[in-house]
Amino acid sequence: MIGIALLGATGSIGETAQRVVARHPERFRFAALTANGNRDGLAEAVARWAPAYVGLVDAKGAALPQGWGSGAQCLVDAAQHPDVHVVLNAVVGAAGLDATLAALTAGKRVALANKETLVIGGALVQRAARAHGGSVIPVDSEHSALLQCLAGRVGGSGEGLLPVQGVKRFIITASGGPFRTWDAERVQNASIAEALNHPTWAMGRKITIDSASLANKALEVIEAHVLFGVPYEKIEVVVHPQSIIHSMVEFEDGSVLAQMGVPSMELPVLYALTYPERLEDDGVPRFDPVKHPALTFEPVRHDVFPTLSLGIAAGKQGGAAPAVFNAANEAAVARVLDGSLMFARIPVAIERALAQLAGARGDDRDSLLAADAAARRIVQELA
Ligand code: NDP
Ligand code: MG
Repeated sequence: MIGIALLGATGSIGETAQRVVARHPERFRFAALTANGNRDGLAEAVARWAPAYVGLVDAKGAALPQGWGSGAQCLVDAAQHPDVHVVLNAVVGAAGLDATLAALTAGKRVALANKETLVIGGALVQRAARAHGGSVIPVDSEHSALLQCLAGRVGGSGEGLLPVQGVKRFIITASGGPFRTWDAERVQNASIAEALNHPTWAMGRKITIDSASLANKALEVIEAHVLFGVPYEKIEVVVHPQSIIHSMVEFEDGSVLAQMGVPSMELPVLYALTYPERLEDDGVPRFDPVKHPALTFEPVRHDVFPTLSLGIAAGKQGGAAPAVFNAANEAAVARVLDGSLMFARIPVAIERALAQLAGARGDDRDSLLAADAAARRIVQELA
């Protein structure tokens, strides 16, 4: 029986994970559950799964049921709990970093939805995994697709958490988001409601905005680089509006493998828990080719969606730049969601933070978190 710590149990990925685990009670159980402030949602999950450990990060000053942990430390305690074998990190944002590091330091497998972890602390995560024998398996659908296409070619020496051999190119697909066909001027005036109206995926609010700006794709390019150690020059992004092909790998001989499925996180969550095996699961939505007669591809419109190039440049620059990109984006998205910033200002906010923090250090956790905090302040002060 595999004990799972589900961090972010009340979120979109958290709910998917509960559905997946409910179909495999002989194989998995939840040993730890956490949420941020959604106490009722967490209590519901606790009543259902009776985990050994429960943590609510933000108790809002109220008394908690006996035995519940609180504060950011509860994520670390859940990740390191002795009943836990796999940590499914489905927290949104930089808040997920320490839990990933804690799990790896305890030698556990991390099924990682929290891509921000790898963007901020790629080098730290790699060091922790190497030093203590923990591993990272991606939940993000594109990276799950890459991993599946790479079957038999992962492992051995080389850069990255999952070093790969013989790869010519990664082709990461993007739905293009709700503004894929909009002209630049219309995107400049886009409202929050329009940005939240994703054409193919139902997800949490932060990643939905990231998908509209293509910040999500920038985070994913950096995530792919950190995971597989493939240089940025070999990672391409292509728009694929149907979201059926989740990504592709081109090998040295020109062969291209793609992984397909309907847009649903059921399979990526399941696969991260069972990798390298596959488990029979009739609950994963099935793909019917006849229902998807047209799979199309188009280039990214970098001029309309500058956030993607900003993020990739930050990734290439390394040091604190990816953490600054991520934090500025998180702060800008929070402001878009609370109505104090126009959607179109996201790249402006990120660019300003990257320029002002160009010399920021990023060689350890504390300097990365200092750069993160400084980036948030810059975006906060933006008119
Ligand atoms: P949601 O916003 O739906 O859920 C986030 C979860 O994290 C909630 O349980 C929330 O608790 C908790 N949380 C939020 N802030 C904190 C914090 N500061 N400390 C601790 N816990 C916190 O997000 P998603 O499920 O959509 O996304 C989760 C992660 O997975 C993100 O990194 C996202 O990029 C990634 N991802 C998501 C996909 C999807 O389909 N949704 C696809 C691929 C990747 P509470 O409810 O109490 O606020
Ligand atoms: Mg993705």
